[in-house]
Amino acid sequence: MKIAMLARNAKLYSHKRLVEAAEERGHTLDVINTLQCTMNITSHRPTILYRGETLSGYEAVIPRIGASITHYGLAVLRQFEMAGVWPLNESVAIGRSRDKLRSMQIFAKHGLGLPVTAFAHDPKQTDEVIKIAGGSPVVIKLLEGTQGIGVVLGETHNSAKSVIEAFRGVNVNILVQEFIKEAGSSDLRIFVIGGKVVAAMMRTGAEGDFRSNLHRGGSAKMIKITPEERSTAIRAAKVMGLNVAGVDILRANHGPVIMEVNSSPGIEGLEGATGLDVAGKIIEFIEKNAVKGKTKTKGK
Ligand code: ADP
Repeated sequence: MKIAMLARNAKLYSHKRLVEAAEERGHTLDVINTLQCTMNITSHRPTILYRGETLSGYEAVIPRIGASITHYGLAVLRQFEMAGVWPLNESVAIGRSRDKLRSMQIFAKHGLGLPVTAFAHDPKQTDEVIKIAGGSPVVIKLLEGTQGIGVVLGETHNSAKSVIEAFRGVNVNILVQEFIKEAGSSDLRIFVIGGKVVAAMMRTGAEGDFRSNLHRGGSAKMIKITPEERSTAIRAAKVMGLNVAGVDILRANHGPVIMEVNSSPGIEGLEGATGLDVAGKIIEFIEKNAVKGKTKTKGK
């Protein structure tokens, strides 16, 4: 097969591993720098120009679109979809997962476990928002944050209030959540491919940090998940419409709660912690499912 991968940095572990896994199985995988694609948006023959040449002949595309270029990256991915190239994750599904509020609303609609979450645009509603989230301590998050940046613990009502007001004062959108203390600075990253869990790890935050992100110095180990955690992860990926998803879950007293669903999950931490060939499983999924022209909008 001829596969394209939209990615900016070919040297990232996840990207190198995907190229390796594709080549091991006899495929060609070209890394295409998303930002260097030029689109020709015409009705009959939508094309993509890359470094002066028209891209053609791809059967599948792996979108690895960084959060900072979501808008342009999704436009490029749509252009591939319009040309009939099968996407590992569809543009619509990725767009959905990148919007934290929208994702939370979709999970809630489907009855999936979530931390109690409040959102308000108006800074005058600060007390109200803290109250909805169950009172302090609360977790305050930037709506556009990634890798744990912009996730703050407001331990008292007053400290929560000043953080919320500071963010709102510079016009940054945030959401406020119940703090799941019993998760003990750990979360689960459950990797779903095609409706099946292929690997899971538990990440634990660095000493003194309630955030478990590996980018923030956390550590990871392989873990056995419960049937409820498994079904929560599978359903979360499904309602987002994602074939491949990294589902982050906290172990709350009242069961698993979803933090977020990542549409371009990294595999370095996961392969390191589990010893599994996750890249190979992604390529195998593409082999079994990529059909030219089979692009439809999934999920709701
Ligand atoms: P990001 O998308 O930037 O990674 P997350 O929302 O996943 O942000 O939060 C980062 C980490 O902070 C989580 O992995 C988790 O360990 C911790 N965390 C986030 N929200 C909560 C919460 N409501 N209760 C307890 N811990 C939380």
